[in-house]
Amino acid sequence: MTTTHAPTEVLSRVFGYDAFRGDQAQIIDTVVSGGDALVLMPTGGGKSLCYQVPSLVRPGTGVVISPLIALMQDQVDALGALGVRAAFLNSTQSSEERRAVEAAYVAGELDLLYLAPERLSAPSTLALLDRGEIALFAIDEAHCVSSWGHDFRPDYLALAVLGERWPAVPRIALTATATEATRADIVTRLGLDDARVFVSSFDRPNIEYRIVAKDNPRQQLLDLLRTEHAGDSGIVYCLSRRSVEETATFLSRNNIPALPYHAGLDARQRAEHQSRFLREPGLVITATIAFGMGIDKPDVRFVAHLDLPKSVEGYYQETGRAGRDGNPATAWLAYGLQDVVQQRKMVQTSEGDAAHKRRLGANLDAMLALCETVECRRGQLLAYFGQPAGPACGNCDTCTAPPETWDGTVAAQKFLSAIVRLAQRRQRYGAGHVVDILLGRTNDRIVSLDHTSLSVYGIGTELDERQWRGVVRQLLAQRLLTVGDDGYGTLELTEESSAVLRGERQVRLRHEVKPSATRRSSASG
Ligand code: ADP
Ligand code: ZN
Repeated sequence: MTTTHAPTEVLSRVFGYDAFRGDQAQIIDTVVSGGDALVLMPTGGGKSLCYQVPSLVRPGTGVVISPLIALMQDQVDALGALGVRAAFLNSTQSSEERRAVEAAYVAGELDLLYLAPERLSAPSTLALLDRGEIALFAIDEAHCVSSWGHDFRPDYLALAVLGERWPAVPRIALTATATEATRADIVTRLGLDDARVFVSSFDRPNIEYRIVAKDNPRQQLLDLLRTEHAGDSGIVYCLSRRSVEETATFLSRNNIPALPYHAGLDARQRAEHQSRFLREPGLVITATIAFGMGIDKPDVRFVAHLDLPKSVEGYYQETGRAGRDGNPATAWLAYGLQDVVQQRKMVQTSEGDAAHKRRLGANLDAMLALCETVECRRGQLLAYFGQPAGPACGNCDTCTAPPETWDGTVAAQKFLSAIVRLAQRRQRYGAGHVVDILLGRTNDRIVSLDHTSLSVYGIGTELDERQWRGVVRQLLAQRLLTVGDDGYGTLELTEESSAVLRGERQVRLRHEVKPSATRRSSASG
């Protein structure tokens, strides 16, 4: 293809679309005229055209850096079907295939060349690029350069070389992840100080957000699928591979066709499950977060989380895979005390320096705040991405069934006092045992440890166990309580706890909604 076509002409002739969407036209103009751009656009927003069209308009080859090796073949095939000359270089190819692609590039026969990021650490790749004409560099999934994000890839740090070695070639960095911190990281680490920044709205109005108290999560999930998503395609995210496997088996036994996907399966099986999910209607995939990046399936009707995501960014990306066709879809998360304890523990015992732990802790705090909010969840999500929240959305659980709150100060004082009393005996316990003490239970452990003699023993019978777990979960979420670094999930006070104990600080808590997956019954809880 030659160089003289206008972007709109390429859009209609090559891609068959009538008009650009949102910021696409401006982004494309920026790159076509040689400027750098940083594009923050939600999944499904249409990022690909932002570099594909300029690659066809400018002379030379558009070089696209993408971590999604598994999808390169598909992308190249799809472009080929449109008559675009595209190819890729990655580790899955034979040396012959690679040589053919290299020759085509040097001969100026490629419109687009996809590269895995690690190739740019090789001097031979840089030398190869010098032998052809580069139209632009597109850096896809650019948040991978940021250690703030949830999928940092060290290979991305090497991409700074692009701006240094080819200062005249325009660069466009694209991501669906966009907090202030990630954005700043992308700009500094890729040297994109002069880039124009384009931020699209992150709202996904057709997705209904729901976060429920975790009780018997698989059963809750099953209720949800049976009552609201019979026959629908969807993704169920679990933290561990084992849970992925067990959930797939559980659903299949209950006549819901489900396939597992995690890094422990061999590559062939993963590819097969992924392609069946893309092709067959009504299939559920249970997966770790290894699944989903770059997956373009328009009719995913629900994304369910059986465990708490580590950050709002992760949650937003994962739930964003639902409803790309614009039709109603559900983002459903079940979350409980154990999630908070486990995640706080993971932060405490994580590798890395204090700053890294602080980041992980801050990410988790934001996720917990979203879980415990009594306000519109969409508003809170958008605020997290720096967008002004509109009026309450009417399409999330806190809008359709506003949670009631209660004055939990006395309950909080009782629980925190129990921690203090135990600490006076140089003892620390997890939530379950402390709740047993407050409820005045007489199990072997309580008796043998002489915990019946504690002044706080049996002072909490006005709440039941489920309610107490809700109190503890919320105290942890509000950082009025924390998990120690011994790796056992034992509880400790925080600096803020003392104000509560001294009666200087009130604690507002959400009422525990009776655990249930479905809209009808949760609205009445
Ligand atoms: P992203 O990479 O941002 O997740 P894609 O680039 O895959 O999104 O685009 C999502 C879908 O929207 C694709 O099916 C794409 O063909 C379609 N699309 C993008 N831009 C336009 C447009 N201007 N007109 C019509 N369809 C578009
Ligand atoms: Zn809302």
